[in-house]
Amino acid sequence: MTAPVPAAQSLTQLRTAFLTQLPELRQQIEAAWLGMIDSGWSPEAMQDVQYRAHRLAGSAFTLGYQSLGRAARELELALAFKEWTAPPQDDDKERLKNLFSELLQQITHPCLDGSMGEEELIASLKATESLQSTRANRLVFLVEDDPEQAEELAVQIRYFGYQVQILTRLEQLGKALQVITPAAILMDLIFPEGDSAGIEAIQQMRSVLPAQVPVIFVSVRDDFQARLQAVRAGGQAYFTKPVNIGALIDALDRMTLGEEPLPYRVLIVDDSPVQANFSAMHLKKAGMETYIVTTPLDVLQALNDFNPDLILLDLYMPECSGFELAQSIRQIETFISIPIVYLSAETDREVQLEAVGIGGDDFLTKPIKPDHLIASIRSRVERYRQMRNLMVRDSLTGLLNHTTIKERLSQELSRAIRYKIPLAFAMLDIDHFKQVNDTYGHSVGDRVLKNLARLLVNRLRTSDIVGRYGGEEFAIIFPNTSGNDAVQVLDEIRQNFSGIVHQGNSGQIFHVTFSAGIAAYPGSVTPANIGDAADRALYQAKAGGRNRVVLLSNP
Ligand code: GH3
Ligand code: MG
Ligand code: MG
Repeated sequence: MTAPVPAAQSLTQLRTAFLTQLPELRQQIEAAWLGMIDSGWSPEAMQDVQYRAHRLAGSAFTLGYQSLGRAARELELALAFKEWTAPPQDDDKERLKNLFSELLQQITHPCLDGSMGEEELIASLKATESLQSTRANRLVFLVEDDPEQAEELAVQIRYFGYQVQILTRLEQLGKALQVITPAAILMDLIFPEGDSAGIEAIQQMRSVLPAQVPVIFVSVRDDFQARLQAVRAGGQAYFTKPVNIGALIDALDRMTLGEEPLPYRVLIVDDSPVQANFSAMHLKKAGMETYIVTTPLDVLQALNDFNPDLILLDLYMPECSGFELAQSIRQIETFISIPIVYLSAETDREVQLEAVGIGGDDFLTKPIKPDHLIASIRSRVERYRQMRNLMVRDSLTGLLNHTTIKERLSQELSRAIRYKIPLAFAMLDIDHFKQVNDTYGHSVGDRVLKNLARLLVNRLRTSDIVGRYGGEEFAIIFPNTSGNDAVQVLDEIRQNFSGIVHQGNSGQIFHVTFSAGIAAYPGSVTPANIGDAADRALYQAKAGGRNRVVLLSNP
């Protein structure tokens, strides 16, 4: 399943984005491969490689990189068409290794050798997009004839913020689909109608089933025949019961969360409101958010409040020049690499070059064609965001890393103080996590961390800011939220988390809890203070018996 892609993007842009991602994809698939072939083999590790190869093949074919697509598909199929119950040996291992090294070769030297017209591609993307927008938000159909099993699984899935509609009879599915299009279908195999009735039902329904709704099969059957049939029916994943909930949510997230990129944020600095508004209007039309500053002295404030992805800067202004402004912005650690684009009537090449030399990234000359303005801004923001992502995200969980969450805390806190709005800050720490590692192994521990990260992201508001603070510690900033409200939200998440059934590598099941400490503003007013206060509250939660949320009332 592809994420919704703005239909207006050109094929060239998509290819560029794809190529830019390739090194990262390569790293990911290599890591997954190493996990599968050498250390800690598991069926999931194998599925992971298979899935990544699958995704890669899809994108590569779509964008016309046929050889790369074929290499990825061959690896995918080699993994898919055999039932692996143990690590690949001898011939199998040799064959897989060859396929993998061919794939790496192709990734390293991707070659454009397919032909798909620009129009064809745009049409297919548009189709995806319109379907996506009609999709019921995060609703999953669970078709399962055993009501108890269904309810058990539904509870687990709901913890992660999905809505689940249980259908206990196959014929209900068709009717349900007429009413609403779910984000995904989870389908059992064995029904009173037969041992593969679930698959057959999907096959028969293919014509009415929107192609983009992923079907995930879930069954006690683990035989090759069943898996093969499921693949042929278009099943996008296959899980055996008891379902590993972390892996299932992983798959659901991947397939259904077409991550909406946040609109690009452009800070426009121009002493002429007319000029500024003119640019703002065109950028807004292109879906960007803008913020106008007409006095250079207000820029620092605006940087903090608006947190832009790019600064569009006029060169000549009364109080200070664009040069000077760019230089002073560059001296702030947080904005050291933010793209700065000059927009000025200056046509002297020398002056332009000098401007770019001093902290600027590009020089655009007024009057400028809106398309040109938008295109230059887009490409710069894209690059900037990609780069920033690598710098600010934790690689295991995808959450903000330690440095970044601390930075955000001080930003949010100063905003809270300035506008006199409340703010809560929470520190979470998993209880007895060392035991989880000791009992089930480090990789299972990692999965627990990922599960918690996913739960937090799925359950919190988009305005809440979540980070991985350290090993098994997480931090959450709740802007515009009182301490008591944060306690309520987090306590519900705590209860949900404790209800999640985790699985060890040989199917053992266990539960994990966390403790949390919360400090709130007003109450603790400096960044250092509020962090310490939350930490102390966390300590109290641990000392008080763990698996609880404590709000520090008197910092
Ligand atoms: P408490 O309830 O007091 O917090 O007990 P605890 O066992 O959770 O605390 P402790 O600080 O003794 O142990 C934390 C463990 O977390 C030890 C460390 O190996 C583990 N850990 C830290 N980072 C990671 C990680 O990235 N992955 C895994 N699997 N384990 C990690
Ligand atoms: Mg700890
Ligand atoms: Mg701990």
